[in-house]
Amino acid sequence: MTFNELNIVSPILKALEAEGYKTPTPIQQQAIPILLMGKDLLGCAQTGTGKTAAFAIPILQLLDAQHAERSHRHIKVLILTPTRELAIQIGESFAAYGRNLRLKHTVIFGGVPQGSQVQALQRGIDILIATPGRLLDLMSQGYISLKDLSIFVLDEADRMLDMGFIHDVKRVVTKLPVKRQTLFFSATMPPEIQKLANTILVNPEKVEVTPASTTAETVTQSVYYVDKKDKKELLTFVLKNPAITMALVFTRTKHGADKVVKDLHKANITAEAIHGNKSQNARQRALSNFKDGRIRVLVATDIAARGIDVDNLSHVINYEIPEVPETYVHRIGRTGRAGASGIAITFCDEEERQDFRNILKLTGQVIPVVEGHPYPASGSGKVTINPPKNKEVVQRPNAVPGNSNTPKRWQGGNRNFNKR
Ligand code: AMP
Repeated sequence: MTFNELNIVSPILKALEAEGYKTPTPIQQQAIPILLMGKDLLGCAQTGTGKTAAFAIPILQLLDAQHAERSHRHIKVLILTPTRELAIQIGESFAAYGRNLRLKHTVIFGGVPQGSQVQALQRGIDILIATPGRLLDLMSQGYISLKDLSIFVLDEADRMLDMGFIHDVKRVVTKLPVKRQTLFFSATMPPEIQKLANTILVNPEKVEVTPASTTAETVTQSVYYVDKKDKKELLTFVLKNPAITMALVFTRTKHGADKVVKDLHKANITAEAIHGNKSQNARQRALSNFKDGRIRVLVATDIAARGIDVDNLSHVINYEIPEVPETYVHRIGRTGRAGASGIAITFCDEEERQDFRNILKLTGQVIPVVEGHPYPASGSGKVTINPPKNKEVVQRPNAVPGNSNTPKRWQGGNRNFNKR
């Protein structure tokens, strides 16, 4: 299928060509016709699937067709997204796909002075991309009116919930015109999110791609068993491979991220950290240094990395394994995007073996073990997806989820067993 077959108008087709997009991704193929018909949409998709273009392209086309007055612009579209990084990236997508149209958008988010954002709003815009806190703030100051809104997009609804923004989202929804087209995107559908979707969507069409437990087929994965104390040498060793031109390295903590950067600097490898203790400017600078190739390694915590979108990112390195197995899927989804190939390397120490086992169970994949590297783990054995043969299990062979005699860690099913 081509974008042409999706009835995209020529100014947008030209912009997509300039972006190098040849074929629509599955979510784009499914969502674009639904959205062009003006229907509500429930999209189960994570970043990396081409989700942003799946809503940005039809929105631009619908607005362009309205031939609205250019002199007194009103906000017609609101896109609510949880992080500043995502907001900025969505803004960049609208700029790219809408480059041949005369529509205006702006991006507003917290953590920076509001002056220039207010000025952009006052100049008049058609499309507003916002994080919830700053949006409510500027609405309460009277800078934003949503009375002419016709399309509302809620992006990454499950992360809104994780990050504690769900009440803000609900408050925003109460301020929107009832008659509107609503697009709701979430990678996962926990009950609270399902409930929210039910309240804000009207007869939605459902589109689902790559569930959260599925790792992209284009990502080649491997694991190195290593002792915790040797991880920094192993990282330097792995980075000796000149094929790794850009690597996103994940740690569990902010302190851990800073420590990895220091170790890399000692080994003369350019690196910067991006995490919640850094100012918005420092984060933005680190991200653009990385995107522009001025630094080779970006070290990030999971929260800071949310929504980071780097074209052509070849390598993701899990320096530390996440506790929540779905996070692994999100992390490695940063590479191998939109059909490109990517490589995900995981370092697993003795203490992390259970978390790694949980990842294997979730993804149902066999992740090849790299043997013969210079820093092999001193502990025994590889991780398999069988339950651990430790003392407790041997003593309680009848352990079943839901049985009060069953150790707590077994309750709630296999996915959570032995969760720290
Ligand atoms: P997203 O899921 O919106 O975060 O998009 C992931 C990446 O895929 C972004 O870098 C987009 O520029 C890219 N992308 C989106 N749609 C296409 C397409 N049809 N062809 C090639 N790349 C695309």
